Amino acid sequence: MRDIDLIYQLDILYHELDSKEKELQHIKERVEIIKRNEEKLRYQLELDNLYKIIGKKHLEQRKKEAQLNDLKYKLVNLKDSYEKAIIKDNKQYEHFISSIEDLEEKIDTTELEIIDFMVNQDKVNNLIDKTKSKIDEISREISDLMKNYDSKTINLEKEIDELINSILMQRNNISVEKLNKYERIRNKKKKAVAIVSNRACSSCGMILPTSYYDLLQKNDDIILCENCGCILYYKKE
Ligand SMILES: [Zn+2]
Repeated sequence: MRDIDLIYQLDILYHELDSKEKELQHIKERVEIIKRNEEKLRYQLELDNLYKIIGKKHLEQRKKEAQLNDLKYKLVNLKDSYEKAIIKDNKQYEHFISSIEDLEEKIDTTELEIIDFMVNQDKVNNLIDKTKSKIDEISREISDLMKNYDSKTINLEKEIDELINSILMQRNNISVEKLNKYERIRNKKKKAVAIVSNRACSSCGMILPTSYYDLLQKNDDIILCENCGCILYYKKE
């Protein structure tokens, strides 16, 4: 096999390596995992917030319950002293009655407030449950994505290893002088080798003179396209 054939094969291996490395960097799962993790964090912060709210509500409710007990205790005492007292006049009687009514009204209001608190807590607890199950769902999705990502990266890394080995082996088969020339061109431009197709350079489209064409078919020299500088390669059909 001519050096130029080997260089053409080497170039293909390098292109494969480039695309595999790009693929590894842009694996879809990786992007998805990052997005999902951000989403999970948002829900976790929300959950944290909800726990704070429910904690505060719980404390407020306990305060109200203590207030209610206090009011009830006062009412019992008031009723007790009303029964025991010797009412002297109408004014004293009215004072007792209005104090009792006042306390009873306060008890009613406080009881309603407690019910409101409980309804509110139910709503927050509901939100907590929903947020928790959302977090669980996202965690499951992330672990599925990770499984997929892991197997894909392992495969890609294996393929890249194999390609690097093939490239090293292929380089050993090419004469140093020609290999150096190829590497120099490859370092300068992404596309180092252009196939000659329909008597033209496939990289820039320039039609090649007939003398070139004959040389390419028979010779093993590195011949560059005058227009774009690619190594020209004539591929036998
Ligand atoms: Zn060209």
